[in-house]
Amino acid sequence: MLKRRVLLRIVVSFLITFLPTVAFLFFIFQRISQHSLIKERDFLYNNLNSLLERELKGLELARTLPKSSEIGYYTAFKIDGKCAGRPYYLLTTDSVYYGKNISIGKKCWFLGVDFMELLEVARELNRAEWIILYNRDYIEKFPQEFLDSFVKDKISKDNYVIAGMSKQNVLDVPLDTRGYAVYGKLWKKNLVVEFPLSDRKGFPMGKVLFVKDVSQIYINFYVLMGVLSAYSFVLSLLSSLFLYVFSENLVDRIVKLQELSNRIKGNDFSGIELLKTDKPKDELDHLRNNLVDTALTIGRLLSELEEKNRELQELAYYDPLTGLPNRRFFFEHASLIFEEVKRYEKPLSLLVIDIDHFKRINDTYGHDVGDLVLKTFADVLRGIVRKSDICARLGGEEFVVLLPNTDLEGARVLAERIRTAVAKNPVKHGSIVIVFTVSIGASQYRKGMQGINELIKEADIALYRAKEGGRNRVEVFIPNETAEAQT
Ligand code: GH3
Ligand code: MG
Ligand code: MG
Repeated sequence: MLKRRVLLRIVVSFLITFLPTVAFLFFIFQRISQHSLIKERDFLYNNLNSLLERELKGLELARTLPKSSEIGYYTAFKIDGKCAGRPYYLLTTDSVYYGKNISIGKKCWFLGVDFMELLEVARELNRAEWIILYNRDYIEKFPQEFLDSFVKDKISKDNYVIAGMSKQNVLDVPLDTRGYAVYGKLWKKNLVVEFPLSDRKGFPMGKVLFVKDVSQIYINFYVLMGVLSAYSFVLSLLSSLFLYVFSENLVDRIVKLQELSNRIKGNDFSGIELLKTDKPKDELDHLRNNLVDTALTIGRLLSELEEKNRELQELAYYDPLTGLPNRRFFFEHASLIFEEVKRYEKPLSLLVIDIDHFKRINDTYGHDVGDLVLKTFADVLRGIVRKSDICARLGGEEFVVLLPNTDLEGARVLAERIRTAVAKNPVKHGSIVIVFTVSIGASQYRKGMQGINELIKEADIALYRAKEGGRNRVEVFIPNETAEAQT
């Protein structure tokens, strides 16, 4: 998702860099090529102008020549009327002449040069083809005979009469150029430059079109455009690729961080320690390490919490000094067993155990030794009873053992075993050895009993008898022993 968005942005940034560069290059090259075309146009125009000027100087010289050679290189026509004036083009039925009215002797002559010959010179100089056109409107002012002989064999196109050309193929140029124009396809381009012609009175009579192949300018333009566009393309692509590789790495790291945070969210702390980067290189590494640290702290706190919960659970059900189940545990479990026994009429017995003269041990050796005696007794008890039996410390130095599936005789045997084991396990405290004993009362379930308390009460009665009888002994409860027991 993030990767796709980053990729999209990179593509957009690539286009934003590349496309305007190409547009800018195109604009620049168009300006340059435009400039080259204008230079070419001026060159063509000025070349013809300077040719014409040279011819005018020749005309001035011809004035001084002897009469016999008055025609010479130039063509001469006798002219009536004003002799002075500007140079002009003179149209005849066979050609067009460029020249000037010049007075030679007392007569006035038009001395001129064949303009088409001049154009041939210009073609050589400029490597440009030419085409001469006359406005049809202008030609129509001439007398009909002139018109008939002039227009004969000539081509008419767009209100022009084409009177001469250097090559057939220049005929497909656009005639209406309005100064200069470029025509052609792609890089096959021609420049058309217009050169106006005016008659003796200064009226526009037609024009010359120069046609020059300018493909080279366009080929240069396209080649340079292509090379620079390719260069800009490669540069933009490289920078985008670099950006992509860099951001891909960044995105991968962000995705990994996301996975890490998901694991923390799902309480999965396994293997997190391995993920830690030793030397943070940037903010992301710091973030990752912080996440890992946080995860480790949370993991540690959670296991501490579990441990504490377990301890609390134990505290609620177990006696912290001896580790035996406590009074609460005993009554919760014993009543369940009692209910079952009541239903299925199974045997059930109970022992109540009391340490003899415990007060005296406390008084003589101190409370700590008393505690040690309690612990020792608990260990002895744990070592003797079965797993299915429930031992518990009911309080002080009073213990009970509930014996499922055990009758009174069995209970008595077990009680005896406990009593003798205790007598054989004195407590060692420094150099002192403290021998202690226990008295045990036993009772068994009988039909009609309502609860576990009744069983405890009867065992207590037996215990009392054991104490009375001199301690360090086992007594069992006989049902008709007391009035209480019989009910
Ligand atoms: P008897 O043979 O008749 O049972 O004499 P006794 O001295 O054992 O008398 P009793 O059972 O009445 O004494 C209980 C004494 O146990 C009283 C109390 O100081 C002591 N005791 C109760 N709980 C603890 C305990 O957790 N630690 C220690 N050290 N002493 C305790
Ligand atoms: Mg007691
Ligand atoms: Mg006691």
